[in-house]
Amino acid sequence: MAHVYYHNDIKDEVLKNKKVAVIGYGSQGHAHALNLKESGHDVVVGLRKGKSWDKAVEDGVEVKTVPEAVEGADVVMILLPDEYQPKVYEEQIKPNLKSGAALAFAHGFNVHFNQVVPPSDVDVFLVAPKGPGHLVRRTFEEGAGVPALIGVEQDVTGEAKEVALAYAKGIGGGRAGVLETSFQEETETDLFGEQAVLCGGLTSLVKAGFETLTEAGYQPEVAYFECLHELKLIVDLMYEGGLEGMRYSISDTAQWGDFVSGPRVVDETTKARMKEVLTDIQTGKFAKGWILENQVNRPEFTAINAKESQHQIEKVGRELRELMPFVKKSQSKEKDVVTH
Ligand code: NDP
Ligand code: MG
Ligand code: MG
Repeated sequence: MAHVYYHNDIKDEVLKNKKVAVIGYGSQGHAHALNLKESGHDVVVGLRKGKSWDKAVEDGVEVKTVPEAVEGADVVMILLPDEYQPKVYEEQIKPNLKSGAALAFAHGFNVHFNQVVPPSDVDVFLVAPKGPGHLVRRTFEEGAGVPALIGVEQDVTGEAKEVALAYAKGIGGGRAGVLETSFQEETETDLFGEQAVLCGGLTSLVKAGFETLTEAGYQPEVAYFECLHELKLIVDLMYEGGLEGMRYSISDTAQWGDFVSGPRVVDETTKARMKEVLTDIQTGKFAKGWILENQVNRPEFTAINAKESQHQIEKVGRELRELMPFVKKSQSKEKDVVTH
């Protein structure tokens, strides 16, 4: 089994005499900045004037412009949206980065796919929490944490891994477990997970199930409950006890249906297409398409997004959720998504 680092195994003195600049104060940024601060580290947030700036000031953290924050920092954690990182890095971070400092990321995409090319005189590492930023914050406040991956791409000081571990501990990752990975592994598995299983695979599965029922004449409301709403219960059981734990809680009829019909829906041909998806990630084809899409202001992304929101499952879901006030309109509105 891979080595897992826990809170008490990690020494964090190495980060105690360092200034950490957290660039961005969105989903991940606010969680990192506040958790590190409350873990006793010296944190400054780097931002432009705007919504996040005001929020950070309100939360009582030190805020500076990006160049000013980077200038005095020993560790610079870039928590801007991945699409904007290359430009902000070139214009505001790189010119102000101290020699011997560490450049850090929460996702390996830009370094792995050559969109950010760090200078040779700095450490480069990642600390990637395996969960949304708002959960990184909430679990920390509860005395728990979200598991994190660390990875070192460049180690000029000889202490990059130690600093990465201390950082992961500082945001609460040590309470859930910290695993070592590489930029390549983190990037490719993260993209694959969100495309094939967590987001892409799941939304397509849910829509196909919903459409199958409604096209057969069943009521859309019933189909919504069956194919979307109930998922949460099942996922919670899987989260707690794996597939076995979930299967223990469902009826034997449901379990038998799982055994005989599941593999008919997701079969070898699905797996073969998953392998194609993985190949596109590994070869950089996916990354190239997404980078180019952003350069032309996202025409396809915008069109698909508009079309998806008109799907019948979304319309019926909006109506039904209005009648279920206990279903919180939570982070989805704050762009706090599971993946990234
Ligand atoms: P968000 O979109 O939530 O954060 C955006 C932040 O960046 C805002 O504070 C925004 O400030 C600021 N920002 C955007 N553009 C600029 C700019 N030009 N100059 C200064 N500040 C700017 O990002 P995420 O937290 O989702 O993602 C950050 C990183 O974390 C990414 O690398 C992502 O892959 C990774 N990650 C994210 C996860 C998640 O849960 N979301 C999970 C694991 C990793 P303003 O208000 O001024 O726009
Ligand atoms: Mg992910
Ligand atoms: Mg991702």
